[in-house]
Amino acid sequence: MTQNRSFVAMDTMMQLTLPSGQGDAMEASEQLVKRLDGVCSRFGDGELAALNKAAGTPTVVSDELFALIENSGHYCTMTGNAFNPLLGKLMDVWGFSGSDDGLPRVAPAEEQLSSLLACADPALCEIDIAQSSVTLPDGAALDLGGLVKGYASDRVLALWRERGLTSGLVSLGGNVAALGGRPDGTPWTVGIRDPLSGDGLIGVLPVRDLSVVTSGGYERYREIDGQTYGHILNPNTGCPAESDLLSVTIICPSGELADALSTALFVMGAKEAQTFWRDHPELSFECVLVTEDRRVLTSPGLQGFEPEPGDYEVVGGAW
Ligand code: AMP
Ligand code: MG
Repeated sequence: MTQNRSFVAMDTMMQLTLPSGQGDAMEASEQLVKRLDGVCSRFGDGELAALNKAAGTPTVVSDELFALIENSGHYCTMTGNAFNPLLGKLMDVWGFSGSDDGLPRVAPAEEQLSSLLACADPALCEIDIAQSSVTLPDGAALDLGGLVKGYASDRVLALWRERGLTSGLVSLGGNVAALGGRPDGTPWTVGIRDPLSGDGLIGVLPVRDLSVVTSGGYERYREIDGQTYGHILNPNTGCPAESDLLSVTIICPSGELADALSTALFVMGAKEAQTFWRDHPELSFECVLVTEDRRVLTSPGLQGFEPEPGDYEVVGGAW
């Protein structure tokens, strides 16, 4: 038997599943996720918000935030800047921050985008390991929204392991992480959403000790002048990514890596994402790419994917 707990954090619905009788672990996990939300939010008075206010001056940060910033720099380098954690101000001008009030009614001007992009260069971010201090480029804002849910799911699983648990499932708005299999020994099953239908699935995956993270333009979007814009930005243009992908799902043991890669491969588009998979066997990840022309491309190492009958052509085979 299992028990569930749902709550809202990081602007999304979170769900925890544990064997029955684990009320304390549930409570501790919820508090952990809410604490991380406070630390990593761009809004309010948490640590990341304070660091953003201090952009341009060296600021000592906690070990936890320091490690996240260092890692986000690695993901940026690894993905050739498709993952860029400094796009906060660009998210603002596209109206993806805060409430609906004050949303821009027109797309931001070219000059505004290029001056914000110039500041969002990760090479301008200075980190001092000895002092645990970070100097953000003046005029840029750190935005860890591309990986923080994955990181939080890793931390929840670590907490469960410390308590001796061997089975559990965490779902943080599109970021699923499994500890072991179900209490009865069978694998957990994780559905991959159909990006074109509200609650349909393109398929399901059996998982044990893996994270399954999906990014897609359909998750958060807005309309300006009748055109739809998704919340994942292309760091080369400063504009919402015009990907030929509807969604990217990454499957690997680390939730943080899966989250960063899901965002980055969405920006890359199908062809470059497949090349990235081929070029990075050391990352040990698998993926499911859903393309605009309704194909589901599964990476050659993916095990057990069961497509749902529907409007998509499932294409396996070599990449
Ligand atoms: P995800 O849902 O994991 O794909 O993350 C999307 C979130 O990451 C956005 O809401 C922004 O906060 C942030 N973001 C947008 N574009 C990028 C990008 N190219 N690289 C890193 N983070 C991004
Ligand atoms: Mg992500």
